Amino acid sequence: MNFKTLIFLILTFSVIFVGSISITPPDYATHIYKQTLDAQVGGNIHANPLIENYLEKNSLDTAFDFNLEKGSQVYRLGNGKGKKILICGGIHGDEVQGPLTVVSILYYLKSHGNKGTIYIIPFAIPIDTEKNTRYYNQSGDVYDPNRKADIPGTPVNKILKFAVSHKINYLIDVHSGIGVKEEGMVYYGNSFEENWAKNIQNSTGCAIKTNPANGTLRSEASKRNINAITLEVEKINQGVDVPVQTELNILKRACAYLKITYYKF
Ligand SMILES: [Zn+2]
Repeated sequence: MNFKTLIFLILTFSVIFVGSISITPPDYATHIYKQTLDAQVGGNIHANPLIENYLEKNSLDTAFDFNLEKGSQVYRLGNGKGKKILICGGIHGDEVQGPLTVVSILYYLKSHGNKGTIYIIPFAIPIDTEKNTRYYNQSGDVYDPNRKADIPGTPVNKILKFAVSHKINYLIDVHSGIGVKEEGMVYYGNSFEENWAKNIQNSTGCAIKTNPANGTLRSEASKRNINAITLEVEKINQGVDVPVQTELNILKRACAYLKITYYKF
């Protein structure tokens, strides 16, 4: 073997070796921890046919059974270090596209890995998902839970407290609504959130809107120095499957902007 051939072989194997390191994502599946977040909002999410049909059809209840009768669960991906992100779905129990999108990103991150630490609450209020209702019934007091995030003891206030105590830097609250354009929508408040929303808009064509509303998880988080956006897709006119794909694409873009995923979209 002459010198040139030796150099050629060394270079070739170096490229293959380095390449194989950089394209193999770490296996983060073993780093998913879960804990009960709120024992008072437990319910059987499988009793909601829109949820159950989608989970079954897409084999999304195999790795996680989402047995939430004893309370809502928060899943942690990562070791608690780095940037901290909270992704939340199901604050409004009748907006099934939201939790199904969050379940989908949970599976996506499980197989693709992530940087930093991502906390995921797929079903914020399981009892409301079970009943397919927007309104939470707290001992006879029936109210929109996403208008009382600032009131201690309410389900969304517990999520807000979790975010503050876990030093969350970025929060993404995932909903669906009526009259939302086909490409979806992102709500923002401050200038960081606006740039975040504009970046998502550039790649997805979604609408963006600022609409500070006291008592929403997004606005209350933002007041506490947690940059927060809310995602919306159409919940009635486009069924479930298409809006979930639209919202998942928006959510992946939102994560890519924070540089917490290994792949560009
Ligand atoms: Zn909502």
